[in-house]
Amino acid sequence: MLPTSRTLRLSLYTLLIVAGAALAATLAIRHAERQAQEEDAARANQQLALYANSLHTLIDRYRALPAVLALDPQLRSALAGSVDADEQAGLNLKLEKINGAAQSSTLELLDHTGLAVAASNWRLPSSYVGHNYGFRPYFSQTRTQGTGRFYAVGVTSGIPGYFLSSAVLGDHDEFLGAMVVKLEFPELEREWGQGNDTLLVSDARGIIFIANQPGWRYRALRPLSASDMAEIHSTRQYDKQALLPLTYLSLRSFDENSDLTRVEGPQGTADYLWESLPLTTEGWTLHLLRHPQVAFEDLRNAGLAAAGVWLALVFLLLFLNQRWRLAKMRQRSRAELEQLVEERTRDLRTAQDGLVQSAKLAALGQMSAALAHEINQPLTAQRMQLATLRLLLDHGRVDDAYKALKPVDEMLTRMASLTGHLKTFARKSPSGLRERLDLATVVDQSLQLLDARLRDEQVSLVLHLARPAWVRGDAIRLEQVLINLLRNALDAMHGKPCKRLEIRLEADEQLWRLSVSDNGGGIAEEHLGQVFDPFFTTKPVGDGLGLGLAVSFAIVHESGGRLSAENGDSGAVFSLTLPIDLEAHI
Ligand code: ADP
Repeated sequence: MLPTSRTLRLSLYTLLIVAGAALAATLAIRHAERQAQEEDAARANQQLALYANSLHTLIDRYRALPAVLALDPQLRSALAGSVDADEQAGLNLKLEKINGAAQSSTLELLDHTGLAVAASNWRLPSSYVGHNYGFRPYFSQTRTQGTGRFYAVGVTSGIPGYFLSSAVLGDHDEFLGAMVVKLEFPELEREWGQGNDTLLVSDARGIIFIANQPGWRYRALRPLSASDMAEIHSTRQYDKQALLPLTYLSLRSFDENSDLTRVEGPQGTADYLWESLPLTTEGWTLHLLRHPQVAFEDLRNAGLAAAGVWLALVFLLLFLNQRWRLAKMRQRSRAELEQLVEERTRDLRTAQDGLVQSAKLAALGQMSAALAHEINQPLTAQRMQLATLRLLLDHGRVDDAYKALKPVDEMLTRMASLTGHLKTFARKSPSGLRERLDLATVVDQSLQLLDARLRDEQVSLVLHLARPAWVRGDAIRLEQVLINLLRNALDAMHGKPCKRLEIRLEADEQLWRLSVSDNGGGIAEEHLGQVFDPFFTTKPVGDGLGLGLAVSFAIVHESGGRLSAENGDSGAVFSLTLPIDLEAHI
């Protein structure tokens, strides 16, 4: 169950990361593409301005020509009257010559009805001479405004061109006719055709009339209205051309005159960067169509870079997340550990309390046995003494009775001292009590408590006690230590035929040194380091708890002293040192 959901989650994450990388790459590629296209469009726009300039220059070069020629007296006088054949021939030659010199396409002279009286192409079959062009808008423009211009397909020649005309006026400024120059753009188209770009010029109605590539000319960029069609028909502007619409769709617009456009062109459907530039003087629009050329490597690099950045970000996030989780986990496990330690400590303390309790009970048991022993003997003795006393008094031996009272008295004193000692033992001892006390007295009291056992086991006791030995500490606890040491020594000597216990108390620099030596054979070398460990015991189960020395060690430390163990000649030597209480010397 669990691994399946984990694998599922893992694959989901992987999918998300990969999808993110793909998305980042796609966006970056799109952005890079758009940027490259915009740059391309801006470049194309600059080029478009250059092309427009060349067109302007071409037209401007000829703009003045008809105006200048209209001033020619020969032409004016010819139009003033009727033109005979000789005159016409002269005019034809003249126009032919000027046309050759000016390098224009055709020059023609129209009379006030629009009839061509002379033309530079008079030799050609397509000669204009004798044809009437009164229907052409440039003629009517010239008659009313003095000048005219019009782009049209030649009705006679079939060759399209730009007609620029100027009125020929009589002496009284009356309209005599029009001087017309026709410009054709094949050279311009050829020149423009050298690049890879498609260059188009459309008129005010959106009809393309100049194109540097075949198939584009006479296509309509906008739908033509019925009135437009009627006018085109009447002026015969595009003569018999079909004027098919050009289908195109803007995919993306960079600005008003700059688009990425899908065009169903003559060479099939293709995408172009389409730049337009309105030519205000002529009312035309110049178009430049260019295949978008975005370097594949640039796009790929942009995509790779974006995907790389995305992945780096994701991994950084994952890394940070992992670290955060790890830190949290560590924190949690630390807290758990702390709690565990706390619980264990509590358990241990409870266990320790229990053990202390059992140690106390054990001590109590031992003490009760010792006390019973201690007290039973004198009690029996006293009962016998009392019986003796009664006998003596019965016989009136008062003096003897008095004498017999003395040992009773002594025994009672001894018992009183024992109970007195018990009283101090029973006193509640707050830990850390540091009263001023004589260490020698502590030894005395401890010995007194063990007196019965010492006597029973016939231990020879050697005492070297310097007194008073003032120290600071807790008498009862120190006594507990001493009893422990003495009892251990007695235990060690158990079974030895000759038992010797030596207790020394002497000053050692700033310390009192109390040593307890026995001849019980000592502590095995390997146990020397362990005897102060809690629960270390070599005694049979039930006899020893292994707590005595551990507790003693703690008590001595608490009092600011040291407790150590070593082996002497014939047994163990336990040394207890405590700082000398200086107050005693003052
Ligand atoms: P317990 O007396 O309950 O065993 P202690 O902590 O008092 O616990 O003593 C630990 C052990 O140290 C004893 O079991 C014994 O092996 C060793 N020991 C203590 N005192 C002596 C001594 N005087 N001679 C030899 N061994 C001793």
